[in-house]
Amino acid sequence: MRLEVDATTIPTDAPESDGTLEWDSTTIVVVRAHDDGQTGIGYTYCDRAAAELVRSTLANCVQEDVRASWLAMNAAVRNTGRPGIASCAISAVDQALWDLKARRLGISLAELLGPAHDGVPIYGSGGFCSYTRDRLQEQLGDWVASGISRVKMKLGRDPERDPARLDAAREAIGDDVELFVDANGAFGPKEALAWAERYALEWGVSWFEEPVSSGDLEGMRFVRDRAPLEVAAGEYAYTPEDVRNIVGCVDVLQLDVTRCLGITGFLDVANAFPVDVSAHCAPAISAHVFCAVNRLRHLEYFHDHVRIERMLFDGVPEPAGGVLRPDRSRPGNGLELKVREVARWAS
Ligand SMILES: [Mg+2]
Repeated sequence: MRLEVDATTIPTDAPESDGTLEWDSTTIVVVRAHDDGQTGIGYTYCDRAAAELVRSTLANCVQEDVRASWLAMNAAVRNTGRPGIASCAISAVDQALWDLKARRLGISLAELLGPAHDGVPIYGSGGFCSYTRDRLQEQLGDWVASGISRVKMKLGRDPERDPARLDAAREAIGDDVELFVDANGAFGPKEALAWAERYALEWGVSWFEEPVSSGDLEGMRFVRDRAPLEVAAGEYAYTPEDVRNIVGCVDVLQLDVTRCLGITGFLDVANAFPVDVSAHCAPAISAHVFCAVNRLRHLEYFHDHVRIERMLFDGVPEPAGGVLRPDRSRPGNGLELKVREVARWAS
């Protein structure tokens, strides 16, 4: 078994921002596991440091069995710090090992994981704070026109501007489409609650993501218990302990398979709690993995990742009627890395 890893940084198609961050590029770290003429693929959206950790440490942990490799990787990063970059690096390697296993068996990754569903309903996600009113309306409206019945926008960067942005969003999508908002932890608990009441009443918002920092568990529970809409979080759950800590503070648990210790880590927590689960980002891999979730809600069809996955991979699943279905006629996750495209962005 030989691991190959590429870190590729791709500029966004426009400057982007949310409630607490601005960015103009995205880095994807792709791991390929080669063995016996077969190649498994896994990836994570993370700093390039994750690629270095794969090369320096995780490559030495890989063995024949997936969970044995996973345990060895977890043990190897004890003093590095497991949550964060190390969890993302482990996720990419672990996905590649699961993918390799499925390809060896000649079945799709979804099939290997024991699907409960044949597809994952999606919601369009973008609506950045940096967008003009026209761009915001165009993006949200295009998703609705393509058959997606729920969309999410960012807010909280400049709260006094948000009412006009919410007016524009509702105007673009009409009354029947679900409108979600994500503050990325921009508010304190009482401020978040006051906004939650306005979002729900004035714009029919039904989902408030990270109203407060995900590190503020008491604040998250305070808002969840009082707000007249659903509170969601979990994208920064890197370990099973993170999931256990946040699951009682939200209405819907978000999980990111490219962060939470990969498919092995994901399988340990996704069906362990009495709560609906929503997939955070990375749609090409999440389409396979989240079919195995009992209480599956939906998947975040995130603008940046949709664009990058189409650029770097052949075999990316395309949504139909607002649902993303993994292609179960293709072995593994169905993805092939466009090596030339990766090289182009590396130079
Ligand atoms: Mg979010």
